[in-house]
Amino acid sequence: MKIGFIGLGNMGAPMAANLAKAGHEVTGFDVAGTTAEGVTSAASAVEAVQGKDAVITMLPNGDILRTVAAEIIPAMRKGAVFIDCSTVDVDSARAAHDLAAEAGLLSVDAPVSGGIGGAAAGTLTFMAGGSEASFEAAKPLFDIMGQKAVHCGEGGAGQAAKICNNMILGISMIGVCEAFNLADKLGLSRQSVFDVVSTSSGYCWSMNAYCPAPGVGPQSPADNDYKPGFAAELMLKDLRLSQQAADSVGAPTPMGARAMELYEAFVGEDGKGKDFSAMLPRLSKMARR
Ligand code: NAD
Repeated sequence: MKIGFIGLGNMGAPMAANLAKAGHEVTGFDVAGTTAEGVTSAASAVEAVQGKDAVITMLPNGDILRTVAAEIIPAMRKGAVFIDCSTVDVDSARAAHDLAAEAGLLSVDAPVSGGIGGAAAGTLTFMAGGSEASFEAAKPLFDIMGQKAVHCGEGGAGQAAKICNNMILGISMIGVCEAFNLADKLGLSRQSVFDVVSTSSGYCWSMNAYCPAPGVGPQSPADNDYKPGFAAELMLKDLRLSQQAADSVGAPTPMGARAMELYEAFVGEDGKGKDFSAMLPRLSKMARR
């Protein structure tokens, strides 16, 4: 396939490189001038998408997605598929679907889980929203860049699934960090907390797979001085998106709202550039109020 790829950042560059490695003809563009292995650079976004069978965007936020979509969709070939893999608000995702439909394109919102490691290894999970035909058109590309693609429903459903998942993640990480800190103060060893909880009803990904306590459980950013991994500011971005979505439909999310406040305070003080699991050393330093 001929593929245009817009946004060759931490995630986009390895994703585009994997498509090229699989034998596709990939043309990329990034305002920062970044490139990716095996990918031909275009002078503009429009040049990157002209005549392509599929166009993928991997951009920082919904405003940028709207701007880029408005620029490139009119330049795309009718019948091609537009795939946005960025994490954005549901409204921006739907706006991009509308533009694509008006232009006679197939379109999928397909945010990912798996981080930079998953992007490099081609093991991302894609959460997709759009028509059945759009999903089927994009699926062969998801299969190269990832290990699983779930068709969640119509346009916007992929973003909805992503923010629901990451709202749970933010809440559960804080819960696990609180439990370790409480256990410290009660004189329990962190290893015993892990051994019990990881095989009891408190088990969850934040404890079992991404343990925030250094030296306990499988290797995680805690074992690397809390270098991300998944940065606290990205967790905050996703928690904000979850609250924006909850506001728009009037859904009560009291724990999601509190998790957002806690990550806002963390990022605003000293959490920027640290992994989101560094909530544990932060709590360890805090007094009970
Ligand atoms: P990044 O900032 O490294 O990459 C974004 C790229 O988009 C940058 O290179 C930037 O120059 C480019 N860009 C910005 N405006 C542009 C424009 N108008 N035209 C062309 N290029 C433009 O971010 P990232 O870590 O690669 O994340 C990308 C998206 O994936 C975000 O929405 C993020 O929330 C999501 N995501 C990231 C991770 C992660 O672990 N990094 C995990 C899951 C999802």
